[in-house]
Amino acid sequence: MNLVIFGPPGAGKGTQSKFIAKKFNLYQLSTGELLRNEIKNKTELGLKISSLINSGELVSDLIVSDLIEKFISNVTYKNRLIFDGYPRNLNQAENLENLLKKYDQKIDIVLKLSVSLDTIKKRILERQAQEKRADDNQEIAIKRYNTYEKSIEPVIDYYKQSKLLKVVDGETSIVKINGEISDLIEAI
Ligand code: AMP
Repeated sequence: MNLVIFGPPGAGKGTQSKFIAKKFNLYQLSTGELLRNEIKNKTELGLKISSLINSGELVSDLIVSDLIEKFISNVTYKNRLIFDGYPRNLNQAENLENLLKKYDQKIDIVLKLSVSLDTIKKRILERQAQEKRADDNQEIAIKRYNTYEKSIEPVIDYYKQSKLLKVVDGETSIVKINGEISDLIEAI
């Protein structure tokens, strides 16, 4: 099974992905985490993308596509991927479908975590205190939220049409969301 999870920054994608990965023996492919690792390791790519990421902008589609293809093409992860943070726009959604087809795979379920901007602001501040991410401050968080809202609308329509989309209320407790997501996955 391959799964897509998306939601605004601070929606709990990472937390829920880790839970799903453990429970269903899947692999969490977080594009944000992969990109942050490139920055941390000061790779050539990391140096190129750090100012974009730190200002809340998206990285180019081509860069992220290359990163995810490495996992999709690897048999270790075949039909075991949680796409956490990908796709972020329509081009990426179409690209993901094509890449999966290329390696004889498909998406089985798409989870959208819905959370209000007020909650996002609160959670980002909490996370900033814990993880010290350069892009986790009020101003950049609002920028990332707006970037997300603008580019994700066509992605939502895209997955609605293919009937893969399931909307989960991301405002409730972590445990409650865990339960709801488990039920949705087990019902596939
Ligand atoms: P995230 O950890 O998902 O909140 O992502 C952190 C940052 O990484 C985003 O604000 C973007 O700059 C970049 N990023 C992550 N995923 C993507 C993607 N699919 N396309 C473009 N940029 C991305």
